[in-house]
Amino acid sequence: MESYDVVVVGAGPAGSLAARAAAEGGATTLLLDHRPELGHPVQCGEFVPAATELADLFGCPGLIATAFEIPAETVLRETRWMTCVSPYGHRFRFPLSGYSVSRRAFDKALAYRAEGAGAELRHPVGVTGVREDEVRLARGASIRARVVVGADGPLSTVGRSVGFAPVRTMFRMITATVDGPLTDEIDLHFGHAAPGGYAWKFPRAHDANVGLGVTRSSDGRSLDLLLNDFVAAQGLGPARDPTHWWVPVGPPPDSLVRGRALFAGDAANLVMATNGGGIPTAMMSGWLAGEAAARHVRDGRPLSDYDLAWRSALFTPLRRAARIQRFGDHFAGFDPLLALGMRYIGASGLDDMMRLRWPSRLGGHA
Ligand SMILES: Cc1cc2nc3c(=O)[nH]c(=O)nc-3n(C[C@H](O)[C@H](O)[C@H](O)COP(=O)(O)OP(=O)(O)OC[C@H]3O[C@@H](n4cnc5c(N)ncnc54)[C@H](O)[C@@H]3O)c2cc1C
Repeated sequence: MESYDVVVVGAGPAGSLAARAAAEGGATTLLLDHRPELGHPVQCGEFVPAATELADLFGCPGLIATAFEIPAETVLRETRWMTCVSPYGHRFRFPLSGYSVSRRAFDKALAYRAEGAGAELRHPVGVTGVREDEVRLARGASIRARVVVGADGPLSTVGRSVGFAPVRTMFRMITATVDGPLTDEIDLHFGHAAPGGYAWKFPRAHDANVGLGVTRSSDGRSLDLLLNDFVAAQGLGPARDPTHWWVPVGPPPDSLVRGRALFAGDAANLVMATNGGGIPTAMMSGWLAGEAAARHVRDGRPLSDYDLAWRSALFTPLRRAARIQRFGDHFAGFDPLLALGMRYIGASGLDDMMRLRWPSRLGGHA
């Protein structure tokens, strides 16, 4: 049986950063993904905040500088503003620097960087489960691993096979492409457009990414119907190439270590609950998991070092965001209440929430 120090399952942002950190740390590393083409189909809004904005959310500038590097060639547009739109069309605008990226290019670029650091990349190779030190592949073969990183997204096969099941709500998501508008502004629409979640419009180079996520029942309306209604209401052209996927939202688990398996990114529930973004936390947690895995095989450090590292960098803001999201959810089912709440906290309160903080009008940044 083939044998590696570290096998990383999933070559999304979490897995590629984990593989790069493990390989740079001196571990023999294998990165597996079941997709024939990495990053495709795109199941993402493709927005990432600038590193300076991320540093305002998480107090870990060193980790951000190391793990959150956006490959320049994958950037489609720089954006400077975010606008939150209430169910009745009131607009609340605040500055937020970020980028629209091509996930199709982004995921490949990160995986190739891991390869450049010495990790071996193989795809399409599906993993069906992990049992002790054996990573089982779809075609019946197995690979031996001293450490496994489960970076296989919200429906994590690795998680299921080792009994790792974080508490969470799954947002049902749809995303698609439309023509225009080409601005430096990204829009989030709340209320009936996306019950319990929001609909978005993110400009790219020559078109825009639109989509929505919902938690609540949508009166029998399918996600496709909700999206068509949304793009029609915005005066945009027809939605092309819609894809459906999931975003796991919930509090961060206490531990991301199960035996010899470490979890990162969506597989670990590390999505920012108030804005639904998970790319930066996937990259940061992936990096820390890969680093801890390499130190384990090289220096005999315990794998629980990973828990110390990610908890110190990510836990408090993510837990706060989950609490704010749960609180905000009380308003989400009734448009008049939601509109009133948005007017009460105003643009600065919505800005706070996007930055994982309690709105100042609801008791400040505690
Ligand atoms: C519609 C939508 C819009 C979103 N918009 C944004 C946004 O604008 N900004 C943002 O920051 N976040 C956004 N997110 C969230 C973001 O996409 C995720 O948080 C992020 O991709 C998590 O990265 P990851 O590496 O943990 O998982 P993923 O990106 O899901 O990568 C997991 C990888 O594992 C592979 N895999 C899965 N199972 C197996 C298996 N059994 N064997 C082998 N390989 C496997 C998959 O092929 C995949 O490549 C959005 C999510 C959705 C669904």
